[in-house]
Amino acid sequence: MYTRIYFFRFPKDTCDRPIIYHLIKEHEVEVNILRADILPEREGVMILELKGAKNNVRAALAYLEGLGVGIERLATRVRRDEQRCFECGACTGICPVQALYVRREDMAVLFDPDKCTGCGQCVLICPVRAMEMSLGKEWLQLESVTMD
Ligand code: SF4
Ligand code: SF4
Repeated sequence: MYTRIYFFRFPKDTCDRPIIYHLIKEHEVEVNILRADILPEREGVMILELKGAKNNVRAALAYLEGLGVGIERLATRVRRDEQRCFECGACTGICPVQALYVRREDMAVLFDPDKCTGCGQCVLICPVRAMEMSLGKEWLQLESVTMD
């Protein structure tokens, strides 16, 4: 099954539309809501995991693009702090797609951002917080609105 995690930015005119329902019913895509900040009459942001046949996921993304939804793979927000990482290897066992792996020749722990899905498991397991996922200013803006 094809699985990807995306960061979506919804224009405010889409906030009252049954978009998730449409993704599930019309595109047969499984949707896992990992985080959401949607307020009435305001732009919203969501992190969604989409699962399904690759063509279905692509069609679902095309549908969202057609609505003017901003789409970014969450993996682009995952970074490794090379100064902090002491190459313990703990993350290599948990990464489901081998984006973190050991190079046998010299036992170096490498990170391949192209393979990363943005699942965040390495962020939780790293003992020195070398793996980072930045959600960016979008969340800060919305959190400050929510707190007002
Ligand atoms: S768990 Fe953290 S410190 Fe250990 S290899 Fe992975 S990124 Fe580096
Ligand atoms: S977020 Fe970490 S554990 Fe998840 S795929 Fe990317 S590198 Fe692997």
